[in-house]
Amino acid sequence: MELCYRLIDKLETEAQLTKEEWITLFQERSPGLAEYLFERARKWQHVYFGNKVYTRGLIEFTNYCKNDCYYCGIRRSSKTACRYRLSLDEILACCKEGYRLGFRTFVLQGGEDGWFTQDRLEEIIRKIKQGYPDCALTLSVGERSKESYQRLYDAGADRYLLRHETAEESHYRMLHPSELSPSRRKQCLYYLKETGFQTGTGFLVGSPGQTAAHLAEDMLFIHRLKPHMVGIGPFVPHHDTPFAKEPQGTLELTLYLIGLLRVMMPKLLIPATTALGTIDPQGREKGIQAGANVVMPNLSPLSVRKKYALYDNKICTGDEAAECWESLEQSMERIGYQLVSERGDYQE
Ligand code: SAH
Repeated sequence: MELCYRLIDKLETEAQLTKEEWITLFQERSPGLAEYLFERARKWQHVYFGNKVYTRGLIEFTNYCKNDCYYCGIRRSSKTACRYRLSLDEILACCKEGYRLGFRTFVLQGGEDGWFTQDRLEEIIRKIKQGYPDCALTLSVGERSKESYQRLYDAGADRYLLRHETAEESHYRMLHPSELSPSRRKQCLYYLKETGFQTGTGFLVGSPGQTAAHLAEDMLFIHRLKPHMVGIGPFVPHHDTPFAKEPQGTLELTLYLIGLLRVMMPKLLIPATTALGTIDPQGREKGIQAGANVVMPNLSPLSVRKKYALYDNKICTGDEAAECWESLEQSMERIGYQLVSERGDYQE
């Protein structure tokens, strides 16, 4: 017990722990320890970000995907997914509405959809950056070659999100078909950093088969990679996947991990994710209070929101999301935080 408190102090001063120490922190955690952790996390959050919560407008521009990840609702084998792609004009209309609402970062996320060739992606990037030169553009379009990442960066994209999903190899293979490789996924993250992207990784919390040792590997990998952003969210089952009957990840463990990430890397950009908001009505607020400092409301057109169904019961897919800014602003104010428009780039 007492040891765990000392490990959190050590994490704070040395920014790293051994694998065994991480495992202890996961296995021996308690509500009292978590409160101690969140206080340290909020202290660092306050030092670097005050009470600011950064906003990113998420545009889910295609749900076609060539991959077949066992947890994901838009996987290739899903027969029930109703597939869609947004046109360039539809994407630009999302940016226009987002800009009006106050967003200064747009995130283009999608399945790995070959229809969006290198040239098409570059054209989209150029058009968005032409129309909104004061905005940051984040891509989240999966694994690509080093050359492709370089060209996307040269076309004007600023940031890239690619979660490693789980750092431990055998666990990665449990969650993915054999054509997907854990080493390639990690290699892509190093390419992204070398290219110059502000790079985000992350992992699923409570995915099937996950152990304390796997989570320890996730924390060690993040420490090695030194990303600028880390997005984590609970695994939430989707009814039309092989993991339909698996239990979802918990709020408690997700919050604990957010706190640990903040204390390990105090300047990190950490979103309170939609998946967290999906498993608990106050999930995103609790995420902020555990150390997160980013929210990513949905800017996708209402007509497609329900179709980008990575998991069941996803929030903000109805018309209530239209006023996502105002309602989020109010809920953040209630807990003493301020939603801000500024780009919120990573500060070294
Ligand atoms: N094709 C892109 C974007 C993937 S979707 C890529 O490969 O990076 C974004 C994230 O949603 C994934 O990285 C995954 O961590 C998360 N996700 C997918 N299915 C999920 C589920 N069932 N529960 C919770 N999160 C899920």
